[in-house]
Amino acid sequence: MTTTLPAYDEVVARFEPVIGLETHVELGTNTKMWCGCPTDFGGEPNTRVCPVCLGLPGSLPVANKAAIEATIRIGLALNCSIAQWCRFARKNYFYPDMPKNFQISQYDEPLCFDGYLDVEVNGELVRIGIERVHLEEDTGKTLHVGGATGRIHGATESLVDYNRAGIPLVEIVTKPIPGTGALAPEVARAYVTELRDVIRSLGVSDVRMEEGSLRCDVNTSLNRPGEEWGTRTETKNVNSLRSVERAVRSEMLRQASVLEAGGRITQETRHFHEDTGDTTPGRSKETATDYRYFPEPDLVPIAPDPAWVAELKAALPELPRLHRRRLQEAWGLSDADMQSVLNAGAVELIEQTVAAGASPAAARKWWLGELSRRANETGVELADIGATPAQVAELQSLVDAGKLNDKLARTVLEGVVAGEGSPTEIMTARGLEVVSDTSALTAAVDEAIAANPDIADKIRSGKVAAAGALVGAVMKTTRGQADAKTVRDLILSRLTPTP
Ligand SMILES: [Zn+2]
Repeated sequence: MTTTLPAYDEVVARFEPVIGLETHVELGTNTKMWCGCPTDFGGEPNTRVCPVCLGLPGSLPVANKAAIEATIRIGLALNCSIAQWCRFARKNYFYPDMPKNFQISQYDEPLCFDGYLDVEVNGELVRIGIERVHLEEDTGKTLHVGGATGRIHGATESLVDYNRAGIPLVEIVTKPIPGTGALAPEVARAYVTELRDVIRSLGVSDVRMEEGSLRCDVNTSLNRPGEEWGTRTETKNVNSLRSVERAVRSEMLRQASVLEAGGRITQETRHFHEDTGDTTPGRSKETATDYRYFPEPDLVPIAPDPAWVAELKAALPELPRLHRRRLQEAWGLSDADMQSVLNAGAVELIEQTVAAGASPAAARKWWLGELSRRANETGVELADIGATPAQVAELQSLVDAGKLNDKLARTVLEGVVAGEGSPTEIMTARGLEVVSDTSALTAAVDEAIAANPDIADKIRSGKVAAAGALVGAVMKTTRGQADAKTVRDLILSRLTPTP
């Protein structure tokens, strides 16, 4: 079926979207959820496994206290109530990347529930209700090889890696979010961004979408004004913040075209495709009864001591949103300027660069200028560009000390990004330091005067402004390495009478 998608404006004029987000966060604990296997990303397949996370008969799980603590801290940061007593539950389903044939999760007794997160969208605060925050275990990874797409269709064989199996996973589920209208895609993105920042500020996960330690499923439905909420679909494989926004938008457009044609929306999971921005249908959604949940008999219930919970609450860090407000004031930025810093993903980078000794203005200049441009060109996140805040601060200190001018500093920065070393090392190795030693420059100045006698005459007759052309000539012969002020002073001292 080929249909032309309606325009977005028409869709939001005729339909009201309701969105919801389920986010999975891999915790950065040292060991897995039920065993002592290490959790770091990567590693040769099936080298970080033991009888427990391989689900071998007779092995027994023991809950990881650090994971429970991290989950409670996430719940508290999201203004949730913390259960005084709750249990883990078995979620039964067969999938090759899950060796036990069930996942230990939580069902009707989540560890944290009924909270909220305030996010800013276009300068307005939107309160997102949090239904629950619960703790479970991650699955292994299946690799389909031999096909063109890496998917199971067309693959000649499938391999499974259990290194990830049993890593603690926190699931954060929002309440349905109605009433966002045309802003639904932006609200979804703002929520995931804010959630990522909150979790990062807690130091419990590195929350990297590209490495899968933060994963997001997006629920979307449409209804006509005054009608009941529509049937929702769940879009999976949404692997970047930008994709969260695109997935909501593309699903709104698709559902609207189905509804406009008199069709019905099927409750199903859909796959988001990074390349096209479209979604395609996956399996029809299981209901909770299909999973035959029951309390996990191999684990004791969790009953966190209220005094411990109170202690964790008192020790929570400042919320990122409030932290950003404080930085904005300290840096003296307008809302629009702060927004561009946020959009560039540069808040922490600038903060760390300032902490390393640069002025806020200089730090912002490098991260939002040269480095953002390169990040856009090469399609990498600014934080992964290859320059560290400490290196940017060092670069600026060389500029402040007069050892580099702006142009040379850019060249040095290129070297930093290319991994050639520290700014000082690159400046020295490539001989890029500004030359302000007059004896070294005199020859170049005399050469420029000799080569441009008419300009020299103008300066001699009092037209000092003409010196600019000679400065330019000297800069050219010294490959931009001369100190412009020193050159100008030298030219004038040679061509104008000493008072
Ligand atoms: Zn293990």
